[in-house]
Amino acid sequence: MFNIVIFGPPGSGKGTQSERIIEKYQLKHLSTGDLLRAEKKSGSKLGEQIKALIDQGNLVPDAMVEQMVRAFVINNEKGYGFIFDGFPRTVKQAAWLQQMLKEVSADVDLLLSLEVEEEELKKRLLARGSISGRADDQNEQIIENRIKVYHSQTMPVIDFYKDLGKFAGVNGVGSLDEVFERICDTIDSYK
Ligand code: AMP
Repeated sequence: MFNIVIFGPPGSGKGTQSERIIEKYQLKHLSTGDLLRAEKKSGSKLGEQIKALIDQGNLVPDAMVEQMVRAFVINNEKGYGFIFDGFPRTVKQAAWLQQMLKEVSADVDLLLSLEVEEEELKKRLLARGSISGRADDQNEQIIENRIKVYHSQTMPVIDFYKDLGKFAGVNGVGSLDEVFERICDTIDSYK
């Protein structure tokens, strides 16, 4: 089982590149953003709470996301491994993930961080918002808040994996093919 965390600020290409990675490496895609958006759409009470947080660009509480991740991993455990997209987003989630994977005799093998500068992120997110209709991609202030949240709460996760010797940074600027090639070179050097 080979488990990867695809990491990076909003708009760095995690979701897009995940689709290619799962196909090539036969991994199961676990996107917490997708799971949360599905819950949000369901109209449940929990979905309403999630909507309020996502639409403002704030993080959903750790325990709520962890519960979804645990259910997903348990239901899909027989695969070749997972690509965690958008998770962990806090150091607490990272420590929780280590512990949870240990329970199923697995581990994170690599955190692959897509590096893209802020102006480019904003451009990409606004362009995506005009197509996808995602409320959190359509408003510049909310985009800025998401980037701020990334810096304050999510970036410390990098040091967590650096300390474990499992961090790799990848230049996320270029064509989709160019970035994918860099990603594959990195994964192959860790496999
Ligand atoms: P994403 O699709 O990964 O950009 O996530 C969209 C939104 O979902 C984020 O801005 C957060 O509000 C929420 N979200 C996704 N993943 C997490 C997570 N691991 N922890 C907390 N909130 C999350």
